Amino acid sequence: MISVKSKTDIEAMRAAGRIAAEVLERMRDMAKAGVSTLEMDAEAVRIIHSYGAKASFKGYKGFPAATCMSIDDVVVHGFPSARALREGEILSVDVGVFYGGFHADAARTFAIGTVSAEKQKLIEVTEQCFFEGIRFARAGQRLGDISAAVQKHAEKYGFSVVRAMTGHGIGRKLHEDPSIPNYGEAGTGVFLKSGYALAIEPMINLGGSTVTTDKRDGWTCRTSDGKAAAHYENTVIVTEAAAEILTL
Ligand code: MG
Repeated sequence: MISVKSKTDIEAMRAAGRIAAEVLERMRDMAKAGVSTLEMDAEAVRIIHSYGAKASFKGYKGFPAATCMSIDDVVVHGFPSARALREGEILSVDVGVFYGGFHADAARTFAIGTVSAEKQKLIEVTEQCFFEGIRFARAGQRLGDISAAVQKHAEKYGFSVVRAMTGHGIGRKLHEDPSIPNYGEAGTGVFLKSGYALAIEPMINLGGSTVTTDKRDGWTCRTSDGKAAAHYENTVIVTEAAAEILTL
């Protein structure tokens, strides 16, 4: 069942969203060669706790950190590590914030120094995919309209869409209905209503769409062909007009 958020719910989600946005801005500043993702995670925790908020991911189904730190071929769910970032890598940072009874969830992909032209394009197109999708995140549109717009934009550039993982509804729980695939047919799926809260999150691969989850840690999700992947996510509220983005 998809929950409709009240005005008070949305106000609480805005507050959680602002914290997530602040964390990601700080992560953007820190994402440089020589810095470790463990240092970045500690800073994210510091910011989140400074508001009396909680990191949504920490302990979620046993996830060990506040942020997912996913480098190059890691699509999502990478663990922060002590290894320093290197020039030419791309880093996806995903963070969830729980505040006032609600979650906000957002992700960005950063270039570490100068990266290859294809990685740079992948980052840009993945972000654009989100904005293509959100054009259809309004009351009266259908879920498949968002999915199809994301897929169409990614494939226009020869990139592929991860199918094994999807965006999701969000609110009192981190993951709520509906599941939001980044591929699909326009004109299909549930009709969107004002007050739906959605985490729309294109996960786009430079090469093939297949991904593999690390059997040892049960989390780290990599592209099967070892090519780079990017991730971009915001928590949004569906309205009669343009969706409200809570995590920018
Ligand atoms: Mg998410």
